[in-house]
Amino acid sequence: MAIFAAMSELQVYNTLSRKLETFQPINAPFVGMYVCGPTVYSEVHIGNVRTFVSFDLIYRYLKFLGYKVRYVRNITDVGHLLDDSEEDKITRKARLENIEPMEVVQRYTVDFHQTMQAFNTLSPSIEPTATGHLIEQIDLIQRIVDSGLGYESNGSVYFDVQAYNEKEHYGILSGRNIEELISNTRDTDGQEDKRSPLDFAIWKKADPQHIMKWPSPWSVGFPGWHLECSAMSTKYLGTTFDIHGGGMDLKFPHHECEIAQAKAGYGHEPVKYWLHTNMLTFNGRKMAKSEGTGVTPRQLITGDHPLLSQAYDPMTIRFFMLQAHYRSTLDFSDEALQAADKGYRRLMQAIADLDTLQASQNSSLNVAELTDRVKAAMDDDFNSPIAIAHCFEAVKWVNLMKEGKESLNNTDLQSFRNFFKEFVAEVLGLTAASAGESVDKIDGLMQMLIDMRQQAKTARDFATADSIRDQLLELGFVIKDGKEGTTYTMK
Ligand code: AMP
Ligand code: ZN
Repeated sequence: MAIFAAMSELQVYNTLSRKLETFQPINAPFVGMYVCGPTVYSEVHIGNVRTFVSFDLIYRYLKFLGYKVRYVRNITDVGHLLDDSEEDKITRKARLENIEPMEVVQRYTVDFHQTMQAFNTLSPSIEPTATGHLIEQIDLIQRIVDSGLGYESNGSVYFDVQAYNEKEHYGILSGRNIEELISNTRDTDGQEDKRSPLDFAIWKKADPQHIMKWPSPWSVGFPGWHLECSAMSTKYLGTTFDIHGGGMDLKFPHHECEIAQAKAGYGHEPVKYWLHTNMLTFNGRKMAKSEGTGVTPRQLITGDHPLLSQAYDPMTIRFFMLQAHYRSTLDFSDEALQAADKGYRRLMQAIADLDTLQASQNSSLNVAELTDRVKAAMDDDFNSPIAIAHCFEAVKWVNLMKEGKESLNNTDLQSFRNFFKEFVAEVLGLTAASAGESVDKIDGLMQMLIDMRQQAKTARDFATADSIRDQLLELGFVIKDGKEGTTYTMK
């Protein structure tokens, strides 16, 4: 199966190491997948959500194909240094809000999980935290030092990029070379301690006022950001695993550094397939959490943003994201979301209508041909926009069948129904709009209370009947008895 045949960045990478035309897990049917998770110092923005929704689609499709996937997505709860500063993002937030760094971590981890649930992404199999894996990280630093590619300087430990590059190609993933990198470097952080400006910290000695710090053989300090992913992916997936993902912005330097660390520390190429999602922009503008230009999921879901005309259901936003290929840039705007909302509702209506279709004697449609096209699109580097376009052909069929213009026999109708219901719910991860679902639930609950009140009245228990009415009124529900029966409105 040629799932990854169209991955341009992989081809660049693999022409240098090995040729891969087809997806071959190292230990099929098991697949190991690691995705760089969020740094939990603020709410995620909708661009981050795009990356996690993309990997959710990939995870779901691999499971759909029958692979047993171990999906590891980390939580970065320490170690990201702000540009031009010695303070990490979590500590800065804690200082600004006058709370513990771990309170910051807890708050935004919970928030992240709620967001992921709203977008119907499946939980990863393991969600390790950087602070929970200090021992593994210190072990990896020691290995890198022992290999001769890490050196201690003033209590910090740096990766010797030039020495590494004498044996390996630093820049292999992002298609860079060291000469170009040296001429472009402007990094002055800890310059005096480093042998070369390209060297990156794998352990940083902490200033006395630094809050998040741990003992190590080199100093009381904290690990470099790139290190946690190497240590945790190896712990849970092995020294070489199948898929490593993240946003395009992580390709360099983060993933380049991961490759270097793993080769130095464990002596192996860490990853067989690298997958990178492209950036989501808003009205053409890049979104960056650190610059405060990120639109949050909350703003989209509540419509609380000056550039939005309405609130959008998370399922509409998910559908909008899946309508673009994960490697393409995607710009979202109010208009684009409105169009996506219509498309999403049309698709879900057809899925609901599937159950109402009646079988005929004969089939006028070729179900297998259509379902094969959907699968072929997904096999081609998870091409969800093409797969969705084919799903809309199914929507057309559903509508023609409703009008009696097309027909399916019993067997074909069953496979048509089963495939599209499963594909939309389990692979695309689209469910009925959550807002609509809550309204249905409230309706059901209200009907139950109205029935209970009626039963109390019939039993001449007017105290209970009145109490139900009064309590509902306090909650903002007005009960009205009319000729047609009892109804309710919301104040
Ligand atoms: P961070 O918390 O900044 O490390 O980001 C978490 C994930 O979101 C990483 O995989 C990033 O590459 C990804 N990401 C950041 N910004 C965007 C964006 N605008 N569009 C898509 N993915 C993004
Ligand atoms: Zn990472």
